[in-house]
Amino acid sequence: MTAQTSTIPGGDPSLEHELRRLASSPAVTHAAVIPESTPLEDARSQLADVIRLLGYSDGLHAMLATARRELTVAVPLRRDRGDISLFVGHRVQHNFSRGPAKGGLRYSPHVTLDEVRALAMWMTWKCALLDVPYGGAKGGIRIDPRDFSVGELERVTRRYTSEILPIIGPSQDIPAPDIGTDEQTMAWIMDTYSVSVGHTVPGVVTGKPISLGGSLGRSSATSLGVTHVAIKALEHLGRSPRGASAAVQGFGKVGRDAARFLSDAGLNVVAISDQYGAVFAGGGLDVAALAAHVDATGSVVGFPESEPLDAELLLELDVDLLVPAAVEGVIHAENAARVRATVIVEGANGPTSPAADRILADNGVLVVPDILANAGGVLVSYFEWVQANQAYWWTANEVETKLADRMTAAWVNVRDYSAKHGLTLRTAATSMAVERVTEAHRLRGLYP
Ligand code: GLU
Repeated sequence: MTAQTSTIPGGDPSLEHELRRLASSPAVTHAAVIPESTPLEDARSQLADVIRLLGYSDGLHAMLATARRELTVAVPLRRDRGDISLFVGHRVQHNFSRGPAKGGLRYSPHVTLDEVRALAMWMTWKCALLDVPYGGAKGGIRIDPRDFSVGELERVTRRYTSEILPIIGPSQDIPAPDIGTDEQTMAWIMDTYSVSVGHTVPGVVTGKPISLGGSLGRSSATSLGVTHVAIKALEHLGRSPRGASAAVQGFGKVGRDAARFLSDAGLNVVAISDQYGAVFAGGGLDVAALAAHVDATGSVVGFPESEPLDAELLLELDVDLLVPAAVEGVIHAENAARVRATVIVEGANGPTSPAADRILADNGVLVVPDILANAGGVLVSYFEWVQANQAYWWTANEVETKLADRMTAAWVNVRDYSAKHGLTLRTAATSMAVERVTEAHRLRGLYP
């Protein structure tokens, strides 16, 4: 690594100190001493590992560890009952070297600026790894959408959109659904943006309803990509997916369809959880019947053809495949040693902390990282953006074939890079992504 003084313009001494510490500290071999980490610490630690490996300079490290642009906005909402509530929203654009910023919008009471920063950084790596021409972004509003009427959610969404309007657009930054948002949210964003510029702009968001220019196959794309990669990973270890056991944490945007696709592919999905609890059936859950139960009751809990299970214990089941498909940081230093799955395929963003990663690697658990495993979503978002910008629509079969081809190619590239350099799949994937972003940055040059 080039020995040079790192100076972060604008002077954030705590960041500078943190980056120096991460870049110079030797790899930790056991996690017992590591406290719980935040998603941003996890993302920066993963980056620091790769910077050290690639021998990149402190200055480049500082650039890649820091978002190019961050906007925090107040979002006042007129409630149905007439009074006003105020929420905080963020949009973070981590990198533009390879194209406009791209990433989801999250509505959750747990949203913080640091969380959005981490998620935006992971989007940069994900887009680079899949070779889609975007940088990374993420947005969030600290709100629990379950507490609000549809009308209130529409007003929150439109007000937030109008606040971030100057920095979004089809060639600037393209939001998409994430936790707590859906295709209706995207329709409101598209409408608010379009009304403001005076004409309809379908390319400003992805994950739209099909009738407004959404892509066939987008809503299940993340889950389908997870399934393709899970099958490849099992086969890589010489296991047939048919009859392999699987546990899925989360029954939302990613987990629900992932459980369905895995079951369709012949896996035995023995356990599924949601935020209220978990259910288990040793002979395999009937995923379609479970989905109907969730639609009727709002939760997996109480599904008749199953036994109740402690949701935390789902992560520790002795299964061939574990798919964490909920939130960040669920596999950490404290529980990682108890994980008995053979393969973990990360449907969620950031579910495994770096400390847990080291324990899992020591224990021979193969972890397929989020930026590869769940990239099917942004990949089909890219297909949607291409279709919307050209006003020319593909068939479901075209979308699914292209998704399968590109996810498989990305898996093969990461697997080969990891074998060639003796790295975990996460370090290999992050390394490949960081190299691509850095190459784009070098070719463009630093302005001025
Ligand atoms: N929120 C999704 C993710 O984390 C999709 C982002 C997108 O399609 O832009 O990958």
